[in-house]
Amino acid sequence: MSESDLKCIGILTSGGDAPGMNAAIRAVTRTAIYNGFEVKGILRGYKGLITGEIIPFKTQNVSNIIQQGGTILKTARCPEFMTPEGRRLAYENMVKEGINALVVIGGDGSLTGARIFAAEYNLPIIGLPGTIDNDLYGTDTTIGYDTALNTIMEAVDKIRDTASSHERLFFIEVMGREAGFLALNGALATGAEAAIIPEIATEVDQLADLIQNGFRKSKNSSIVLVAESELTGGAMGLAERVKNEYPQYDVRVTILGHIQRGGSPSASDRILASRMGEAAINALLEGQRNVMIGIDDEELVYVPFNKAIKNQKPINRDLLNTVKILSI
Ligand code: ADP
Repeated sequence: MSESDLKCIGILTSGGDAPGMNAAIRAVTRTAIYNGFEVKGILRGYKGLITGEIIPFKTQNVSNIIQQGGTILKTARCPEFMTPEGRRLAYENMVKEGINALVVIGGDGSLTGARIFAAEYNLPIIGLPGTIDNDLYGTDTTIGYDTALNTIMEAVDKIRDTASSHERLFFIEVMGREAGFLALNGALATGAEAAIIPEIATEVDQLADLIQNGFRKSKNSSIVLVAESELTGGAMGLAERVKNEYPQYDVRVTILGHIQRGGSPSASDRILASRMGEAAINALLEGQRNVMIGIDDEELVYVPFNKAIKNQKPINRDLLNTVKILSI
């Protein structure tokens, strides 16, 4: 298919929701309409593609949503899309609806599904990195990450008020799946004593390091941000270890949970989503397919799906030391 055959673009959000997805939906829809395309909104991610929950999208459908968290298209996890039969149904609905290309906003899993679907049916699909985890390679940040980081900062500030009134060690668990970006930068932003992250979990015993390195020397309370992950053991796992191995500490656990996904997107996330949404349509106009839009050092870039999802996005390990130095 050449770009001139491109008439109708379908858009969906999939996997974990992230603040700023609505700003991305708005930008994709409006840029597509501006360029003369028809737009269709697909509800509930790949699930809606399979069940045919597809609605025409006009510019008014995306009015007044830039400031809203969540996603007006809804999102879902869809195991059926992992089967060839599920993807065949999805493809048949695309044909029935006259959709020639897709813009998929989601995380690692959603872009993996997009890569497989695109290859199987020779479809043009553009991905936008929509996840609070920031774990997609090739882009400095992902849509939702900055808002989640700010939510973490506000929550930890509040916990610090109570923590400092008692002599306690607080483990605060943040999201991130197998990535420590939220924990590490959250620790920097809140002046936490340490971040315990999966990226180095197999190399060092971060808990033993923390305690041996004179932690709490001059303080009556301590806050440690822990990335949720089997590798770190999570906040509960670490608290268990403290109780057994360092019983002198009075330990408390807070799991921030879904609060991190909610809320109105930050200015940075709205700007990121708007730029990336416009870029998704420009990419299709340029004949690009099967790439994720990224912003790398202020430059818009096209990252092949394979690279975006398969590569471990490197974390800046120097920042761990910064956290340590600033917490003496
Ligand atoms: P996220 O996009 O936030 O990483 P998930 O990992 O739950 O979220 O993936 C979202 C959806 O993407 C899954 O429910 C499934 O429909 C689709 N998906 C994920 N992995 C694959 C895969 N290997 N093949 C096909 N579809 C997939």
